Amino acid sequence: MKFEEPVTEIIQRAYNVKSFRFNRPEAFDFKAGQYITVTLDNNGKKTGKPFTISSSPTEREHIEFTKKLTGHEYSNLLDAMGTGDTALISGPFGKMTFEGEYEKIALLSGGIGITPMISICKYATDMKLSTDIMLICSDKTEQDMVFTEELEDMKKENPRLSVFNTLTRASENWKGCRDRICSNMIEREIPDYAERIFYVCGPPPMVDSMMDMLHEMKIPDSMIYKESLTGY
Ligand SMILES: Cc1cc2nc3c(=O)[nH]c(=O)nc-3n(C[C@H](O)[C@H](O)[C@H](O)COP(=O)(O)OP(=O)(O)OC[C@H]3O[C@@H](n4cnc5c(N)ncnc54)[C@H](O)[C@@H]3O)c2cc1C
Repeated sequence: MKFEEPVTEIIQRAYNVKSFRFNRPEAFDFKAGQYITVTLDNNGKKTGKPFTISSSPTEREHIEFTKKLTGHEYSNLLDAMGTGDTALISGPFGKMTFEGEYEKIALLSGGIGITPMISICKYATDMKLSTDIMLICSDKTEQDMVFTEELEDMKKENPRLSVFNTLTRASENWKGCRDRICSNMIEREIPDYAERIFYVCGPPPMVDSMMDMLHEMKIPDSMIYKESLTGY
């Protein structure tokens, strides 16, 4: 489906991350984990890029995507957008989906790879699914963490949702984990990992190293969904 909609709301999530919301056309259906392409017009030059939908299929009023701002051309164009400015959206696309079909899942996100995980967690929470969710988020610093309040709110509503954060370049004040996601961490934080379906999302080097790790842990491809945020 293709539609042109004005931006209805912009949410600053971090110093370099913004969410953009649009009215959701009634006919626009998607599954948690999928992505759209967003095409912007820069004086006649049209550029489209893919973004995972960071809202949930249960949110009927709006769809949202969340962009890490890079200072490059497309990013600056988006950053300069205000409410009322329009974008051409097409989708949904992508095979990394969650519809409540699994009893236990493990979500591994690197940086802005949190976006599909937020959609999945919100969907499971709103639908009051029995799915047990363990989300491990890896970021560089405290300033790079996004959606922390939203996850805290979801945890209050959903006792089956657990979140573990690790920061690889945290400040001295950070009391939590500082390691990259590794097999020891998975074994410690998700002891029943072999029974779970894995969802992996992040920049390509992160996704590649997670795939190597999961293969070494004898997790078959049939138990892994992945989305590589190519373009970084
Ligand atoms: C399925 C999918 C889902 C995605 N979901 C998201 C999402 O939810 N959120 C999100 O933020 N992104 C997402 N992405 C990535 C997104 O589509 C963009 O590729 C990304 O945001 C970078 O776009 P950009 O225009 O800011 O940077 P680009 O200009 O495309 O830059 C991308 C890379 O090229 C390098 N580069 C570009 N120009 C120069 C230059 N002049 N000199 C040196 N290096 C340069 C940059 O360092 C960077 O590494 C997704 C990608 C895919 C495939």
